[in-house]
Parts: sequence; C-alpha cells; structure tokens
Amino acid sequence: MSTANRIDGKAKAAAIAEAITEETATLLAEHGVKPGLAVVIIGEDPASQVYVRNKKRTAESCGFHSVQHTLAADTAEADVLALIEQLNVDPSIHGILVQLPLPGHLDEQAITQAIVPSKDVDGFHFVNIGKLNAGHIADAFVPCTPAGCMLMIEDELGKDLSGKTAVIIGRSNIVGKPMFSLLLQANATVTVTHSRTRDLPDVVASADIVVAAVGRPDMVKADWLKPGAVVIDVGINRVEKTIDGETKMGLTGDVDYDDAMTVASAVTPVPGGVGPMTITMLMANTLRSARLALGLEG
Ligand code: NAD
Repeated sequence: MSTANRIDGKAKAAAIAEAITEETATLLAEHGVKPGLAVVIIGEDPASQVYVRNKKRTAESCGFHSVQHTLAADTAEADVLALIEQLNVDPSIHGILVQLPLPGHLDEQAITQAIVPSKDVDGFHFVNIGKLNAGHIADAFVPCTPAGCMLMIEDELGKDLSGKTAVIIGRSNIVGKPMFSLLLQANATVTVTHSRTRDLPDVVASADIVVAAVGRPDMVKADWLKPGAVVIDVGINRVEKTIDGETKMGLTGDVDYDDAMTVASAVTPVPGGVGPMTITMLMANTLRSARLALGLEG
C-alpha cells in the first residue's frame, strides 16, 4: 500500500517564522521600527483564547511589538469601534486583528470593515477582498489560512498550476472563497463545492488538489480521491480520541488522514498542517505592512 507525503506545516511554518524574525531584526537595526500587531479579543470563547495566545506568543518570538486588548463579552459596539479607530491611527501598530467569532450583539461586518485596509492583516476588508478577486495579489493582504495553504500546494506542485484541477470543499469568506481566487490566479481549474453540492465524492474525485474547509470530522475518505491528489485539510474539529486505551479530547481534520494517505500523493495532518501556517502568515502580513508603512515595498 502506498503512503503519501505528510506535509509538515509545523516545520514549514517554523522555517518561515525564522526568516521573519531575521527580517524583523534587520528592520529594527536599519529603521528603528518593530512590526506592531494588535489583537482584540472580545468575550471568553475558549478556542479564541487559545488562538489569541498562540498569535501573541508567535508575534513576540518574531520580535514584534505585540499588543492584546481583552474586552468583556458585553462591550458596546461603539467602544469596540473607538478602540479600532485608535489602533488605526497608532503609528506603532501595523496590523490589527479582531478575533472571530464575536459575541452575538456585535456586527461582525461593521467591526471588520472599520479596520483601515492598510492594517487589515487578516485580509477581511472589502478593499483587500476586491484586490484579491481582481488579481491584484501583490497589492492585497491575503487571508492567512488560504495564503498558508497555497505555499504548501506550491511546495508539492510548483507555482504554476496550469492544467491542474482543484476542488475546494466549503465556500466561507475566510477560507473557501479566497482559496478560489488564489488557485485561479495560479492557473488551476477550480470548482468550489458546499453543503448544497450534489454527489460531492464524484466532484472531489476529479481533483488534483483538494482543499477541505468544512468543519466535519474525517468527512473526506480515500475512495473520494483521485490517486496522487494533493490534499490540504483546513478543518479543525474537536473530537473524542482513544489513545492507548484512554479516551481524551483531541483535534481531527475534515479528511480521514490515515485513509487519504493510502491514495493521495501528499496530505496535511491535523494538528500540525494548516494551523501553524495560518499563524505564520499573519506574521508575514504584519511584517509586510510595517515595510509598506516605511516605503520599503509596494
Ligand atoms: P464555515 O462554517 O464558515 O463554512 C463551512 C463551509 O462548509 C460552508 O461553505 C458549507 O457550505 C460547507 N459545508 C458544510 N457542510 C457540508 C457538507 N456536508 N458538504 C460540503 N460542504 C459542506 O467554516 P470555515 O470558517 O470556512 O471553517 C471550516 C473549517 O476550517 C472549520 O473546521 C474551522 O475550524 C477550520 N478552520 C481552520 C483554520 C486553520 O487555521 N487551520 C482557519 C479557519 C478555519
């Protein structure tokens, strides 16, 4: 039985973070500027707390100026918008991130669109979405998860995906849709599938590249896949796992990893695949924003 390549997102993310740390040190030495990342977290969602902690830790280890604003779950929208406005004009801050999801009384769109596009390192502002969709990638902040997925696909198949077919499972604004733009830009022939797609396994079977971003544990099976496919598993699902006879909570992706490894040419694991790349892409976007502010890029 053939076994595919395990795409080590953790190692790749660490290598990119090392390069970012070196560039950050150079920026500080030559321009006296540290990339500044402000993370705003509202409420007590436990998964969000973990994500924010990891982002802060990574920012600090890259040598960034890292700021965290922790707001109570019942914070008024006007107060969140006032904080964003303050960060928008703060010259020590180059990237602003509001951790999603937000408590129900807050308007996600009003808040994400209040971040000035030049500090929108999550790539959620309509200006950045528009640039990405119009093919102006060099000029846009690309959402971190799809940006990380693209680097892993490039490692397997190169930058030019001419003649390759890609199927994305999931059409969210943060993963599925920007992934479509990036794959299309790289010349792949792209299909976006979702919860209303019929005969999903048959559609997936045509793909040289599969990106799964659904939120359903182990949904994609080996018999859905074209032999030799490159499989990128974005899903993060909390499930009970039995390890050495003990049942514990653990993470699994949207792809049945062990099964997929028997047919695919390369698969990302969960954890240790897309997740670490996402955080590192946030650092890359923040460093780029700092360089743009200094007129060193663009
Ligand atoms: P979402 O809930 O916004 O979107 C899910 C998508 O899946 C929808 O477009 C829906 O139509 C589609 N879908 C649902 N059921 C389906 C089915 N049976 N068949 C086909 N499509 C179906 O989710 P999201 O924010 O895009 O996240 C998706 C997953 O990726 C989640 O598990 C999330 O935790 C994870 N995620 C991981 C990272 C990371 O850094 N690794 C980043 C973002 C999201």
